[in-house]
Amino acid sequence: MKRYGIALDMGTSGFRAQAIDLDEGEIISTSITLRHPIPGANVMDHVTFAIDVGTDITHDLIVMTVNKLITTLKIDPTRVERLAVCGNPFQLSLFQKLEIRDLAYAGESKLKALGVKPPKRDATIMDAETIGLNINPEANVLIPPAVKHEIGADALAMMLKTDFLENSPSIVTDYGTNAEMALNVDGQIYSGSAAAGPALEGQQIKEGMLAAPGAISDVDPEDSKWRCSVLSKELMAEEGDLIDPRTGEIFKKGVMHGKVKGITGTGVIAAIARGLQEGLVVPPKIKTPDNKVHLQDGITITEDDIVEAGKAIGAIRAGHMTLINEAGISMEEVETAYMAGALGTYVDAIKAQKVGLVPSTCKNLVQVGNTSLSLARDLIFEPEKLEELQDYANKLRAKHVMFAISNTFRNIFVIELSLWTEGMPFSMYNDMLKMYKLPPIPMKNVNAKVNKIVQRDIPILGKYGITVVEDVGIILSTRVSECIYCKKCIRECPEEAIEIIEKDGKRIALIRSDKCNGTACRRCEIICPKNTLKLRELKINTT
Ligand code: SF4
Ligand code: SF4
Repeated sequence: MKRYGIALDMGTSGFRAQAIDLDEGEIISTSITLRHPIPGANVMDHVTFAIDVGTDITHDLIVMTVNKLITTLKIDPTRVERLAVCGNPFQLSLFQKLEIRDLAYAGESKLKALGVKPPKRDATIMDAETIGLNINPEANVLIPPAVKHEIGADALAMMLKTDFLENSPSIVTDYGTNAEMALNVDGQIYSGSAAAGPALEGQQIKEGMLAAPGAISDVDPEDSKWRCSVLSKELMAEEGDLIDPRTGEIFKKGVMHGKVKGITGTGVIAAIARGLQEGLVVPPKIKTPDNKVHLQDGITITEDDIVEAGKAIGAIRAGHMTLINEAGISMEEVETAYMAGALGTYVDAIKAQKVGLVPSTCKNLVQVGNTSLSLARDLIFEPEKLEELQDYANKLRAKHVMFAISNTFRNIFVIELSLWTEGMPFSMYNDMLKMYKLPPIPMKNVNAKVNKIVQRDIPILGKYGITVVEDVGIILSTRVSECIYCKKCIRECPEEAIEIIEKDGKRIALIRSDKCNGTACRRCEIICPKNTLKLRELKINTT
């Protein structure tokens, strides 16, 4: 009888799972969701939703999604002996149904007033039944430790799955909706988490999508035109069309002609980097006849997209500069940057450095893949490593910088906003830094060397390949007793996530959980003329 393990990465923009044959020691299959099941676009939206609606419901949203992923892994779930999970402290806390309010509020007095006792987030083993997983009920669920506050197992993964801890000074970043970052200076770790938002993962971009088959993932210059690269079914970048970015005219069809569904964050970064170089993109403007950059199969990038991507890039650069400033070193001293996560793997590292996602002084750019899933996989093969991880977490002398309350971060981010959204030329950047009494940054990038350790963020997909779960399929509902069916909420919703139905003479609002932008949006709630739609009252729809 076969015995299986499941490695699970719970990211802010979606989940990734792999089934592993424990006897053969090999990966069998991979499944990913394209979105997170909790309404919202970043970790703070998720935290707010959980506080508003309740941890029980948010726990159920997570577990139902994991169960759905497991059904697509093409294994007998009753034969699963262990499941190892990795993610940020919020995801792992909700998975275990732990208190999360200490992650939302920075001040100790506020926590005291609320009677919140921060839980220990040490390494632990639970059984699958307690969590609510539809696998062998006695299977061990291995949960790695958090280091401190926002520095969770995912941040631990990016430090341990690279040689970051042996390389000082160096910087590591997991490029996601919440960009976790850490700077190592003589063994002292300065860490932070920048709420970059989902633009760099292709969301909040008009025709954006996550790194999945059919996504434009890169553009390169060729004969004064742009060559698109498109992700294949195996998530490999294949040759797309050669196109004029000003008009969309096709000059040569590539092997992926006609297969494009959208553009992923790496494609947006590549287009911005190239557009800046050719003077087509002068943030926040696009200098083409219709103010759009044209790519394969009618996909375009708009000026709004430049602003969204620019804000994300700005948050990450502000985060890097804040850590460097906090450590009291100069940017020139940081020579190595590790780039983790899907974006960190697929992006052209030089283009990422060109737009500001990597400190301009880094000579060595190391692209390391999805370290979070990789750590979970290690635990499946060697469960005893959990103890080792706890030792690491205890020893790590982490100095966490809360960007939300850092003046340095705020001031640099204001400069970034001027650059990306108000048309401030880059040549004024150092003048602005001087105004805030901050050291200047080099205006030119070094010639960096790129070391791409893996070709895909998930290097081995297994013999059954990858399944993409496009619809998590969870509906939230709430009674709208005063509803007059004016449909304003439906028309106002930017994601087409809401509908109003009538059942047994009662009006009910139904919201697709993974499409909804949650507490950062609330447009449906605000526009309701009868004030009858209350997102706080949402429950998981069971009918
Ligand atoms: S309008 Fe309402 S249902 Fe639509 S995304 Fe916003 S909060 Fe969600
Ligand atoms: S906006 Fe309010 S009243 Fe109008 S359909 Fe939606 S819930 Fe009903």
